[in-house]
Amino acid sequence: MPLKPIVDAEHRLREKDRSCLAYFSMEFGLATSFYNSFCSLLKPDQHNCIPSNTIFSNYRLADYFFDIRIDKLIDLPIYSGGLGVLAGDTIKTMADYRLPAVGIGILWHSGYFKQRFWYKYGQVPEKMHWHPRSYPGLVPLKNIVKIQLKNESVYLRLWKYYVYNYNRDAVIPLILLDSDVQQNGEHIRGLTDQLYRSDNAWIKIMQRIVLGFGGIAALKELGYNIDIFHLNEGHAVFSFLEHCRGLSPKEIEGEKHKFVYTCHTPVAAGHDRFSQENMRSVLSDEDFALVSSYGREDSGMINLTLLSMNVCSSINAVSKSHQQVMFLQFPEYKDRIRYVTNGVHPYTWISPEFLNVFRQFPAVFEKIDENPMILSRATELKADYSFRRQVWGAHQQNKAKLCGRLEKWNFKEDVFTVCWARRIAGYKRPSLILYDTDKLVEIAKNTGPLQIIIAGKAHPQDNLGFTFISEIMDAIDSLTQHYDYLKVIIMENYDMHLAQALISSVDLWLNNPLPPFEASGTSGMKAILNGVVQLTTLDGWVVEAEDKNIGRIFGYRSDPQHIGNEKNLHMDEDSASLYKNLQEMAALYYRTNRSKEIDFSSPWIDAMINCIAAGAYFNTYRMLDEYKKLIWKIA
Ligand SMILES: *Cc1c(COP(=O)(O)O)cnc(C)c1O
Repeated sequence: MPLKPIVDAEHRLREKDRSCLAYFSMEFGLATSFYNSFCSLLKPDQHNCIPSNTIFSNYRLADYFFDIRIDKLIDLPIYSGGLGVLAGDTIKTMADYRLPAVGIGILWHSGYFKQRFWYKYGQVPEKMHWHPRSYPGLVPLKNIVKIQLKNESVYLRLWKYYVYNYNRDAVIPLILLDSDVQQNGEHIRGLTDQLYRSDNAWIKIMQRIVLGFGGIAALKELGYNIDIFHLNEGHAVFSFLEHCRGLSPKEIEGEKHKFVYTCHTPVAAGHDRFSQENMRSVLSDEDFALVSSYGREDSGMINLTLLSMNVCSSINAVSKSHQQVMFLQFPEYKDRIRYVTNGVHPYTWISPEFLNVFRQFPAVFEKIDENPMILSRATELKADYSFRRQVWGAHQQNKAKLCGRLEKWNFKEDVFTVCWARRIAGYKRPSLILYDTDKLVEIAKNTGPLQIIIAGKAHPQDNLGFTFISEIMDAIDSLTQHYDYLKVIIMENYDMHLAQALISSVDLWLNNPLPPFEASGTSGMKAILNGVVQLTTLDGWVVEAEDKNIGRIFGYRSDPQHIGNEKNLHMDEDSASLYKNLQEMAALYYRTNRSKEIDFSSPWIDAMINCIAAGAYFNTYRMLDEYKKLIWKIA
């Protein structure tokens, strides 16, 4: 990787009269297996590789003998799911846009966790051991910053990782904070061990303090001249306290315009609340006074969402539908809640096969390598049979690659393939498609064979998520005798590497969150960039794509006046409607793909093209354009 962009970026961030931005996030999803990343000529440290993952399928014999080889370096293991992937995609786009910006995060020594399946038990989380010091591109700095709490000082080492742009001529530095230094006591050294530990309030608070206080201290230490602080979720809100240290109440008011906040979920577990005692035990009297004046609920609890909304000038939802939900949740803030719909980084998620197709039509996809918004013109090529053939061909190429990896499970590229892959959380309803396995068998027997792929990690302390995985395994196990026409598998350790393989190659992307609890969702956005048709409930980003004919929309619709109950999953009605749509889509698929003889005039291919065109909107280039104009107000 060239050095000049690094020197330039470091210089720009230290210039005096220029608006620079710091983007704070608890997690960053950066995969080294694809898109510009450092690699090393040395053989990767074995601790930084997962050699293989197992599969649990209804072809149990194959599971017993085989697993999937992964001969790649692991993703930087400092994220858990969509929030982190969004942060990584955002940073990459900032680099593409050459923004004067820096990312602030945490170096998680044990990452999130390593997922293992044990039938009949379900998910067994294992501690992940990786070696930051031998991870290519990750550099420990000599700099150590000190932050001051009520009864103790905490020392944090700074690490750096540079995120390159598409052309490798600009970078965004990512600063990672690390409490595992000699000066700290054991209890402090472990703070940056594991992402999202939720079993202990003190650890949760301290992790947020490391990010907030530590982040501001790091920016000072490095001499960066920042005047926009972007909080990706309320986790980072303590940065405001550290930033305002020593200022008068009037001056503090004046600093609020520099802080902006993006809220990412309506789900209760995503909003941090702590007791006053817990807060008081950590924060100095002065800090506690500020936190309780801006962040105390009527119940007396300290709520970081409230705190964020009160100390930031701008409050953002992550989709139009999420804005409506926030209006219901926080009516007093209605005037200030805006939305910028999330996106995905196009050059991370468009597969090389599809980028290659787009490049074959330069008169339509003009400068596709710089301007993903040009994809909206895909619909102009609907009547062009050469385009239709190439779209189908690129899809089949991707699908053949996936089926190659699943060869031992007899996956075939001419069989209709459906995927559900994301974090396992209740409101996302991971087991919906397995709710009535008899019905599924009937569809596969009568309409045509099915291949179903499921993947995702459940938070180790989420008992409901854990239950879902054992339920899914039981359902899969019950289907062993139907294996000839109905293949169902669940894959271990869903990460960006696996996500990329799945989103670009299956025929149908299944997205069935319970409305209105999916604030945005991004995996479907990755899939449409590769012409993968959607079967989805009407929630999150999909509300803005409702009229774009990117597949089928089904199921429960939320009441615009009430949020409803995230525990009432509507499994009966919605699974029935899921099966009806699945059957019809499978029928259309098999009319399109009549074993090797393809009907290139099929509406299925129209839907694939509509998906590609919709990708022009649901990407981080459009997203950053809006943030720049509406929120950050930088050129
Ligand atoms: C994109 C992605 C997600 C987010 O998926 P949603 O559809 O938003 O739930 C989660 N995990 C990984 C590894 C991803 O790549």
